[in-house]
Amino acid sequence: MSKPYLIGSEIYRTSSYGGRHPMAIPRVSAALDLIRAMGWLDESRYVDSPIATPEQLARFHAPDYIEAIQSAETLQRVPEAVRERYNIGRNGNPIFPEIFRRPATACGGTLKAAELLREGGIVYSPAGGTHHGRSDRASGFCYFNDPVLGILALLDQGLNRVFYLDIDAHHGDGVQDAFADDDRVFTVSIHEQGRWPRSGRLADRAGGLARNLPVPAGFNDAEMQFLLQDAVLPLLQGFAAQAVVLQAGADGLADDPMSGLMLSNGAFWQVVAALRGLAPRLLVLGGGGYNPWAVARCWAGIWATLNGIDPAMPLTPRAEAVLGGLQWRHRNGREPPPHWLAAIADAPNEGPIRDEIRAIARMTRQA
Ligand SMILES: [Zn+2]
Repeated sequence: MSKPYLIGSEIYRTSSYGGRHPMAIPRVSAALDLIRAMGWLDESRYVDSPIATPEQLARFHAPDYIEAIQSAETLQRVPEAVRERYNIGRNGNPIFPEIFRRPATACGGTLKAAELLREGGIVYSPAGGTHHGRSDRASGFCYFNDPVLGILALLDQGLNRVFYLDIDAHHGDGVQDAFADDDRVFTVSIHEQGRWPRSGRLADRAGGLARNLPVPAGFNDAEMQFLLQDAVLPLLQGFAAQAVVLQAGADGLADDPMSGLMLSNGAFWQVVAALRGLAPRLLVLGGGGYNPWAVARCWAGIWATLNGIDPAMPLTPRAEAVLGGLQWRHRNGREPPPHWLAAIADAPNEGPIRDEIRAIARMTRQA
């Protein structure tokens, strides 16, 4: 397989959701800086993300909703009726200066990835993974839904077996619902049980080609590996996927403040490594992740893993400077523990595989 592509943009460095919003931290910019500082990027494999046009967004999103987001960007305010109709300017979906351009760039990146994957290969777009976005409203910090657009682009190329795996701590509801009636797309979501948006229960299989693996708090590396090997990979191989799309939201990391999951970044890299080579096309996206040190290290390590590089290597002086320069306006960010700054790899969190995890795997495998 040819070398992977990395898609990014400087818009993620220069824009912000504002204030103390959980997204108002460096995420993509920090990961890209770390990748470059570690010497892991051949610049000929870097692609600057285009911005999706309203016409491209309309492949999934309602034109009136796209117009409402564009208008919110221009005016920096919305009437009350628009606020309610489209869920913007409230519920964690703020109006900010790049409210159209930033999510449209994430979609442009994922669409570009689908184009690059036409003949096969691996593409990583860490700004993607906005899995809660709905066709006609914002949800859970997501305005548009780039995974849906990317999968639609793959289907439009003529593919008819796309496998979507979502390992964000939150249920990949927007993607599951978009393809619930489409037997060309198999969606699997591993997420923390009982957490917002509270959908994605074990018995929920949407139209049949969906599986949900709601896991308990404390979910560890060994449990992730068990579910991967015992439940997810057999499904993937049975489906004979022509393309795999991985949403690698990093909020399931033990160091993340938004979930009770206890994964080390090595658990993410094991998933990525296992997916390499299982289908002719692999698209890896980001997603949640609300601790800048944890996100940057996890997502940089994903790029290394895609390139066959073991991320567990000593930091270069430049990488030390990148991590040392991050700031987080959160109580956990006041005195970052040494391991956030001193290495890329977390200590593994191997633990016992609990009976409830074994039961989830059993249920998932059942026809
Ligand atoms: Zn999440």
